[in-house]
Amino acid sequence: MFEKLLKEAKRYVERSYSPYSRFRVVALLFGKNGTVAGVNVENASYGLTICAERCAVFRAVAEGKKDFKGIFIYSPDGMPYPCGACRQVLREFFPENFEVIVTNGENTTTFTLGELLPHTFTLK
Ligand SMILES: [Zn+2]
Repeated sequence: MFEKLLKEAKRYVERSYSPYSRFRVVALLFGKNGTVAGVNVENASYGLTICAERCAVFRAVAEGKKDFKGIFIYSPDGMPYPCGACRQVLREFFPENFEVIVTNGENTTTFTLGELLPHTFTLK
């Protein structure tokens, strides 16, 4: 599964719009029904930048897709650990045992969402 996801992520990496940081990131939500991809999209007004993880989640919401097992986050430019905002957004839609795979293609770390964001704020 890892190699298949890595191959798919590499196909998306040049779609990352990251002229400021030059840190390209691809996030693939994955599950039995396939994947939904997101890339980071930066802006000259830096605060408007959206991370690849939230890009993928919002795209999945718009497409009505919910049944995912985890998220595969890839960057050829470093280890793309998800930021705090993305951890909170992921937790809005996915359980504590949701798998989070972070890789630069050479090094890989796997977490659960609960490990990355314990004691999450939630209204559910
Ligand atoms: Zn983020």
